[in-house]
Amino acid sequence: MVLKGQFMQEISRREFVKLTLSLPLISSFAGCSWGDFGQKNSLEWTSINVCSDTMQGDAHLISKNSKHFLIDGGHPDLSHSHLLPFLESRKITHLDGAMINHPHRDHYGGFKALFEKGIKIDRLYMNMPLKEQMSVEWWGGSYQELEEIVKLANMNGTSVLPIKEGDKFLFDAQSSLEVLYIYDGLHTPVGATDINDMSAIVMIKDGANRFLLTGDLNEKLGGYLAQNAQNIKADVLKVPHHGTNTLAPNSFFERVAPKDIIVTAPKMLWCDVRSQRIRTLAKEKRYGTYVNGFQGDITVISDGKTYSITTQKEAAPLCEQISKDKGGSICTS
Ligand SMILES: [Zn+2]
Repeated sequence: MVLKGQFMQEISRREFVKLTLSLPLISSFAGCSWGDFGQKNSLEWTSINVCSDTMQGDAHLISKNSKHFLIDGGHPDLSHSHLLPFLESRKITHLDGAMINHPHRDHYGGFKALFEKGIKIDRLYMNMPLKEQMSVEWWGGSYQELEEIVKLANMNGTSVLPIKEGDKFLFDAQSSLEVLYIYDGLHTPVGATDINDMSAIVMIKDGANRFLLTGDLNEKLGGYLAQNAQNIKADVLKVPHHGTNTLAPNSFFERVAPKDIIVTAPKMLWCDVRSQRIRTLAKEKRYGTYVNGFQGDITVISDGKTYSITTQKEAAPLCEQISKDKGGSICTS
């Protein structure tokens, strides 16, 4: 276990900082270390790159005042190459809270490795699906793997708690993470849907800033929320369902009205025809667009009034380039 004081001193400088918005902040943020931000009481949300060339996944670390909350852990095959190295680079051995956004393997998969590595998790929020739900969507995960995570949590002294609407995790008086909506995929306002619609819709608030994480929210329930949710407007949106075609409709994006979007997809998925709707929308609406497959780890840094976004790699998510590199065979636009 690393002590708090040690923690701040031992964190190394980020190798690369890229800023694409909130221009007045360029000089004050560029080149600062993670530790510097922590000392300035910033909230940081990193969309950890848990994508390989062919696999997508979600893992989001939200930190403030040495409190850490992890939403999802990516696919199990990428735990040792992507998730654990990131946490090690931040010297994180303890999570105050964690959440499995919905029970699909590309979201829950990394938790086994976290427990096996000895990362201490105080509370794990997760909703178990019915066995039948998992067997209908056999390709997305397994009930047995989820049971194994619960078992590991129990063995490691982690409290396993259900995700409920209104659940709130406080970083301090001005910063929180709150579950706005959660359904069970069977009894939603639009009837029975699927496991993706078990996604917790989570709002991070830091002073005036709003960041919305949407798991893999899909078309029908996303359409319902676009019409009925009054509280989903946000500055940065984690695009639902890795940006692929069945995700929440454009009306959902219009209701959220983000300035910037983060997409948890590999390069080839973002450039595939399946992501075309959101690529087109992002261009039309001029969203600042960040894709893990291109930019690696993507970090939103908030001081409560304004925010900036830094990326591990300096690479614009341009599909034209991929198309050229691969002889035009992968990307269609
Ligand atoms: Zn997913």
